[in-house]
Amino acid sequence: MGVLSKEDPELAALLVREQERQRSTLQLIASENFTSAAVLEATGSVLTNKYAEGYPGRRYYGGNAVVDEVESLAIERARALFRAPWANVQPHAGANANAAAYLALLAPGDPVLAMRLDQGGHLTHGSPVNFSGQLYRFVGYGVRQEDPNREWLDLDQLADLARAHHPRLIVVGATAYPRVIDVTPIRAIADEVGARVLFDAAHVAGLIAAGVYPNPLWLASGERGADVVTFTTHKTLRGPRGAAIVGHEDVAKAIDKAVFPGLQGGPLEHAIAAKAVAFREAASPSFRDYGRRVVANAQTLAASLEAEGFRLVSGGTDVHLILVDLRDFDPELDGKTAQDLLDAAGITLNRNQIPFDPRSPFVTSGLRLGTAALTTTGMGEEEMKRVGSLIATVLRARTDEVVREVRQQVRELCAAFVPPGLAS
Ligand SMILES: *Cc1c(COP(=O)(O)O)cnc(C)c1O
Repeated sequence: MGVLSKEDPELAALLVREQERQRSTLQLIASENFTSAAVLEATGSVLTNKYAEGYPGRRYYGGNAVVDEVESLAIERARALFRAPWANVQPHAGANANAAAYLALLAPGDPVLAMRLDQGGHLTHGSPVNFSGQLYRFVGYGVRQEDPNREWLDLDQLADLARAHHPRLIVVGATAYPRVIDVTPIRAIADEVGARVLFDAAHVAGLIAAGVYPNPLWLASGERGADVVTFTTHKTLRGPRGAAIVGHEDVAKAIDKAVFPGLQGGPLEHAIAAKAVAFREAASPSFRDYGRRVVANAQTLAASLEAEGFRLVSGGTDVHLILVDLRDFDPELDGKTAQDLLDAAGITLNRNQIPFDPRSPFVTSGLRLGTAALTTTGMGEEEMKRVGSLIATVLRARTDEVVREVRQQVRELCAAFVPPGLAS
């Protein structure tokens, strides 16, 4: 930050503080990660200077010969990574990717099925405060309340709702659900009622790329799975902030038109370049190993929390994230209090509603934790056990003294595991 600290010391000082925060606290927010130095460099490149409305070979402005090659490279790498007939790498964020898919596949007022927000779904899956809930008629499916398979996706309910509401689209995927979702039975239900299937892989895209989560575009039989898959590039995929869409040929044209000119203006080609770098990294053997370690770490952290007396929603995890029900640990402890205490101890995570939560979304009875970022720093199962024990120590004691002690231990732990891109 040589130039910036000279030209704009006020802003540069803020970046130094944020770098220090990222380096000295434990990042357990399930949607976050650390990019490589190469991804950071591409994000900060001269491509930010270029306007490139349109698509490779079909731009509205001149001077796009190099940009066309950059975007084509990103498209080819995305297609190879997800074995996709078609890809669009322009969406600025996951929310935009979903908006583009809806704009292409739905008319205002159309019925859509998606996971309920209070049981793991995302705001763009029909929240009344989001455009999705205002423009389309979303109906929510959820998880099972009772044994067996308590808190696992309720496929019977999904099928009943599909037959009752005849949705144009079934949205699959979640922001707080710790289990693998198999598209196979959902594809069958969608075919029965004449719906398309959108798989929102915002959280699990990196796990799919690593081969530790099934690719929703294709069923195990080799037949078509989801028609379209939207995903963010900054969560488990470990790229720049942004998103992309992959899908089968018959949705390609409509979604390309929905992204531009339907929804966005000029693409962020510096971000697209960084996506290309991230797609290349995600195709490497070391990324497959990373995906395996992310899941192994999540399972070790989950076991450690369970041994400390926390109940795990759905009984465990298959992915990078864990949803903890705080009520068995201590009925008086709510998610907001727990999040604030842990924040003070340098453990960064978020409170989250659990299925059938009696508390409000602002307070909640749960915590959501993810291992994608800590795994990137090189932490392994030994460190996960330590993290589980530090969390329990803070939440059991809830005194300033213990918070201070744990803060110091967190500092020491983080000093031994410096994230890539933050080494200087
Ligand atoms: C994170 C997320 C999104 C939105 O991504 P943004 O880049 O924050 O807009 C969409 N869907 C799901 C399931 C997510 O988890």
